Amino acid sequence: MSAQEGFSSFDIEISRKWSKYWEENRLYEADPKLDKKKFYLTAAYPYPNAPLHLGHGRTYLIPDIVARYKRMRGYNVLFPMAFHFTGTPILTATESLLKREENLIKEYRELYEVSEEDIEKIKTPHDLASYFKNRAENDMKNYLLSIDWRRKFTTVDPEYKSFIRWQFAKLKEKNYIVKGTHPVGWCPKHQMPVGMHDTKGDVEPEIEEFTLIFFLGDDGVIFPAATLRPETVFGAVNLWVNPASEYVIANIDGKEMILSSKAYRKITFQKSKVEPPKVTIKGEELVGRLVLNPITRKKVPVLPASFVDEDYGTGVVMSVPAHAPYDYVALMELRSLGKIQGWKGELPEISPLKVISLNGYSEFPAADVVKSMGIKSTSQRDLLEKATKDLYFKEYSNGLIDKRVVELAGYKEIEEFASSLVGRSVKEARELVTSFLKNMGKADSFYEIANKPVYCRCGTEIVVKVVENQWFIDYENEEWKKEVRRAFNEKIEVIPEEYKSWFMNVIDWLKKRACARSRGMGTSLPWDESWIIESLSDSTIYMAFYTVILKIRELSIQAEKLDEKFWDYIFLGKGSEAELSEKLGIDREKIRSIREEFLYWYPLDNRHSGKDLVPNHLTFMVFNHVAVFPEELWPKRIVVNGHIMVEGEKMSKSLGNFIPLFKAIREVGPNSLRLALTYSAEIGNDANYGREIVPVVHDRLKKIAEIIDEIQKHDGMDADFGPLEKWITSAFRRRVAAATEAMEKYAFREASIEIYFKVEQDLRRYLSAVNIPNWAILKEIAEQWTKLMVPITPAFAEELWHRLKRKGSVTIEEWPSAENMKYYPEEELAVLLVDRIEEDVENIKRALKREPKGVVIVTADSQKWEVVSKIFSMFKNGSQAKDLVKEIAKAKLGQNPNEAASFLYELYQSLPKDLRDFVAGTKFEEFELLNQLSILLSRELKLDVKVLNEQDKEASQHILRRKPMPLRPAINLMF
Ligand SMILES: [Zn+2]
Repeated sequence: MSAQEGFSSFDIEISRKWSKYWEENRLYEADPKLDKKKFYLTAAYPYPNAPLHLGHGRTYLIPDIVARYKRMRGYNVLFPMAFHFTGTPILTATESLLKREENLIKEYRELYEVSEEDIEKIKTPHDLASYFKNRAENDMKNYLLSIDWRRKFTTVDPEYKSFIRWQFAKLKEKNYIVKGTHPVGWCPKHQMPVGMHDTKGDVEPEIEEFTLIFFLGDDGVIFPAATLRPETVFGAVNLWVNPASEYVIANIDGKEMILSSKAYRKITFQKSKVEPPKVTIKGEELVGRLVLNPITRKKVPVLPASFVDEDYGTGVVMSVPAHAPYDYVALMELRSLGKIQGWKGELPEISPLKVISLNGYSEFPAADVVKSMGIKSTSQRDLLEKATKDLYFKEYSNGLIDKRVVELAGYKEIEEFASSLVGRSVKEARELVTSFLKNMGKADSFYEIANKPVYCRCGTEIVVKVVENQWFIDYENEEWKKEVRRAFNEKIEVIPEEYKSWFMNVIDWLKKRACARSRGMGTSLPWDESWIIESLSDSTIYMAFYTVILKIRELSIQAEKLDEKFWDYIFLGKGSEAELSEKLGIDREKIRSIREEFLYWYPLDNRHSGKDLVPNHLTFMVFNHVAVFPEELWPKRIVVNGHIMVEGEKMSKSLGNFIPLFKAIREVGPNSLRLALTYSAEIGNDANYGREIVPVVHDRLKKIAEIIDEIQKHDGMDADFGPLEKWITSAFRRRVAAATEAMEKYAFREASIEIYFKVEQDLRRYLSAVNIPNWAILKEIAEQWTKLMVPITPAFAEELWHRLKRKGSVTIEEWPSAENMKYYPEEELAVLLVDRIEEDVENIKRALKREPKGVVIVTADSQKWEVVSKIFSMFKNGSQAKDLVKEIAKAKLGQNPNEAASFLYELYQSLPKDLRDFVAGTKFEEFELLNQLSILLSRELKLDVKVLNEQDKEASQHILRRKPMPLRPAINLMF
């Protein structure tokens, strides 16, 4: 057995022992306690269609760290968990399993280690979900999450369904649920809308709306140019088609249109009347045709371009060379070629036309951008993409419609419209042009999956379908959005803060969302039983449900009695307690206690989730809270964590680097895994989990356990309380303060460095410097240190706590308080001085390339200290540099007053605030302290050390290069 395996099994063993102890003592079961501050936090519940993976490991660890920390800070903490059964993934997985699909069976056996017997037992979607639910619960326990398991539920429990029906009735009352015809992500095979939970890799299909602008051909066939920038149609001087692609002519909504075969297939999902194609044509055959620009009424040519993607939009693109880098470069290319393949007759003269004026750019911004980026050819795709994105963004945010559009307008009526656009923002003009063209019958909408390809779990590529008579949640509603923005601006703290603007963007672009499906497990719509509410819609306010489900069960209230009136009372305080009491046959006080428990825990303090849920679940959660609850019950904080990478790559099954949580726990040990994940990144960043981190973490914990064992072995011995004892006491106090500050700002990596690395280093340093350690002080530090380890490595901390012969659980002890600890600034400053001396000695040694036998250190005359104190006060008050230098010169500090000033300033900057104040306000006995610490210096430098005072007779012979000054003694190496 390797040392690593040895530590892993030790870690697993102590985790088993202590989690059993916590469970038996019911330490994490939380009930309302009126005399205690509460802290209520939740994390997104998992979807049990497979075991938890390392990504869950990270997302659930963070709230557990917070829960454990808050508990130790005196809060009554509730951290519950449930399981999301709703929707199609479980269904799809079960169907595949029952068909004995080889890949899935292999995955279950090998990756997830599902036994043959268990595979046989799974007959229904519910069986499958229950199986993985049990596994997930087990994993979470093994992972030491401090969850109150009494409150667990699944989203198909009858109580939950009743609660969701109530929520939907509330949304409908407010007109936030509408029936209508809207685009949705759609699986053509399953014939139903799909959301994030239904897709491979859990990607939310994002829908993008193109405007199709109809350019009429001579033969009456329409070329529908797909564009995201319809306002630039004034400057459209030609169309592009891909000469190598296949196009078809078909009747769509009563119009003959020409578009790529790929686009034709997609449009069949979006238009109600689509006839089969009549003609199939190669793109090159379209080159040279002339088509009418509906706005300018000019005939423009159809030209070939290989950059046109037949599978994006319609395969017909309008060319606006003044404002689109691709178009500009493609035209340059054609011009330099001098001829066009397949072109009969003269090459047409084509010039860009200005539509938008943009400050800081010439008449043709596309030309400027292309020139400045050095783009010469349409084959420079990456550069062109970037140029397009940048210019698009600049014109959208700062561009104004130029007066020249009036001249470009084709006839009187359009001229008037064009004049009304002049000076307007691109954003405004875009909407006006689109609706103007649509009213004329010259434009339509076309939808594309913006982040395609996205695949359904069945393997079929998702398309956009315009569905009719479907139920939608109207996240587009402006009034609703306004309230949600207010919630984010006034009520909700987002951690890390930089994620807030992302939420604001999501609110801006959020559209109506199909909220029901025709199949899958879940709750049916209360007013239309044929529809099942989909999984991202039935998971938005369930944090409220945890607070009441325990009492509902305790009072044995049957699910069928939980009607709208019940929930109205519990969550909104509406209706009559007496009436409810009579109907349910339960005392009024008991009914009231359910509402009281809800009000005790609510509002939710923290909602935790991975960043992939920002654009959907987390935003929906706020929308739905805003819709259903009064504002004092809106959530208070959203905490978002980054993804997990494995050996620098995204974790995925196809890359073969997918790590189920149970395997990581088994290989590394729960405490070690928790420390590794915490240490690998701060929460907002992506964390990289690599093999090399495991030995680091094991080594850390092993060393810490060794020190603790050493300390507890020497219990009860007496020793000195000298400068090093003062230093270790005060240094530990500083680590506690730093760790606490880091915990408070959710900087858990920073906290882990203080707790697991720096404290240990300090203790080792102390132990190696003294002859007889003061074990009593170390024991006190060890106990406090163990408490600091609870949030990140709880079972490890518990093990150490009991090795220190302490009783009870350390996990419910009070968090150490730096304020209550002893403080010795002078000794801390002295050890910092030792660090600097050691560094200087190493530098001199390196420069001389010789190994010295000893070192003599000469401290400055203590008379000079006063000046240094004064200078520090001047730094603090922001005095002028020349005054400082004057002061230093007067006191003859150092060789050169400027150099001395900059040295002191650098030192001032490097010190924590309290030590700066100490220097400014107190006399520092530099010689005495360094003399006492010479044992530390000598052991660490492995040299004989002698400390002298500037006034000592023999001092002068050791002052060679520079004169000593306070906090910078002279150093002389002896050979
Ligand atoms: Zn499908």
